[in-house]
Amino acid sequence: MTQHFDLIAIGGGSGGLAVAEKAAQFGQRVALIEGAKLGGTCVNAGCVPKKVMWYAANLATAVADAPDYGIHAQSNGFDCGKLIAGRNQYIANINAYWDGYVEQLGLTRINGFARFIDARTVAVGDTHYTADHIVIATGGRPIVPRLPGAELGITSDGFFALEQQPKRVAIIGGGYIGVELAGVLSALGSEITIVALEDRLLALFDPLISATLTENMRQHHIAMHLEFEVAGIERDAQGLGLVARDGQRLTGFDQVIWAVGRAPNTRDLNLETAGVQIERNGVIPTDTYQNTNIPGIYAIGDAAGRELLTPVAIAAGRRLAERLFNNKPDLKLDYTNVPTVVFTHPPIGKVGLTEPEARERYGDTLTIYETSFTPMRYSLNAHGPKTAMKLVCAGAEEQIVGIHLIGDGVDEMLQGFGVAVKMGATKADLDHTVAIHPCSAEELVTMKEPVRRPGQGS
Ligand SMILES: Cc1cc2nc3c(=O)[nH]c(=O)nc-3n(C[C@H](O)[C@H](O)[C@H](O)COP(=O)(O)OP(=O)(O)OC[C@H]3O[C@@H](n4cnc5c(N)ncnc54)[C@H](O)[C@@H]3O)c2cc1C
Repeated sequence: MTQHFDLIAIGGGSGGLAVAEKAAQFGQRVALIEGAKLGGTCVNAGCVPKKVMWYAANLATAVADAPDYGIHAQSNGFDCGKLIAGRNQYIANINAYWDGYVEQLGLTRINGFARFIDARTVAVGDTHYTADHIVIATGGRPIVPRLPGAELGITSDGFFALEQQPKRVAIIGGGYIGVELAGVLSALGSEITIVALEDRLLALFDPLISATLTENMRQHHIAMHLEFEVAGIERDAQGLGLVARDGQRLTGFDQVIWAVGRAPNTRDLNLETAGVQIERNGVIPTDTYQNTNIPGIYAIGDAAGRELLTPVAIAAGRRLAERLFNNKPDLKLDYTNVPTVVFTHPPIGKVGLTEPEARERYGDTLTIYETSFTPMRYSLNAHGPKTAMKLVCAGAEEQIVGIHLIGDGVDEMLQGFGVAVKMGATKADLDHTVAIHPCSAEELVTMKEPVRRPGQGS
């Protein structure tokens, strides 16, 4: 007999777990279908393993800087195996937590990969399940372009499966995953070359961030090749090599990592049989309430293609459950002003519009404040990475519509400023806030003179 549920969540990652948890807490009969480990990309091959590696990289940098502070620290090598074993154990603990919690919530856990049979039915293997509400939370996977020798490279998934540190690494892609992996590997002692199609790293971020990141990466001896369109990967006597469309060649790598974007896991869901629309890139279009075109079928998280971040998938899932089962018919996620951090060395934070985006929206009413400095932490070191900050303000009120940061500590700094932006803070609100001294964050509330761009009058 086909088992029936109030809600089926397809995918046990950030979004699927969030919607299933809330629905169960509202007393619904819920099934959670997952073919791999609970926790999804974030726990198993994303945020969590990445952040552990980032901490290791920060410690390596701190050891190198310590002698300038009179601390006789000396690195006695890097035991990559130990780091990986510790990281994997930490992840296994999180998996075990979710296994136990899902049971405690009373969810029906179904192991396997689901596909649609019709708009109310999904199958796992030969078993069919029906539900009043079906939530697609299947996340995404790294893209590997169809190019000669592409299989010689690995992706971020392959990076987290490595057991030893590669020495000479080429990273293809200047987006956030590419620059994060570059930073981690470089700080831990690998020689890094990063190639990007665009004319700057992090092309979707504010130009000030791209420029400062490039300067900081140069200081770390990371080689960068921009406007480099990879046509293939090949192996020669020196190792792995990249061939560019214009004939350039870079060679001598032990490892090549593809970091050229992610595609939603939606192709194998048999969505046509349920009548669910899908875009050419695999994204499932939804309205602002996460509804697909078929009533009773929803998409959240990376599968829905908006702001590919764990807290976004969680927030969308929780709000959807509240809307469906807790009498809050108007509740939905507001996708504006979502703060985001890139865990480079030092990290990057942004909320709201970049200066070019804001200029397009607000034209001449924009006021820009920016600053760039070497933080006090590096005052005794010969070289320290730059910190840079920008406030994008709109209108006579100078409402803050964008904050862009790069520097030590900005990852933690941004959350509070994100609240301020969400509440509609103005530059005057920052001016009225007494600074905390001495720290980098105080610069954000003490910027005085706006920047004049050429052609903006006197
Ligand atoms: C290297 C990397 C670093 C990242 N760092 C960050 C970060 O620092 N901060 C941040 O906020 N975000 C980060 N992200 C993004 C974040 O991981 C994703 O946005 C988030 O995991 C999306 O959640 P989701 O629920 O949509 O999908 P996922 O977490 O990917 O979960 C989807 C789940 O669905 C399962 N599934 C797929 N198809 C089926 C099927 N047919 N049936 C059953 N199950 C299925 C998959 O096995 C998977 O477990 C990172 C991602 C990567 C790759």
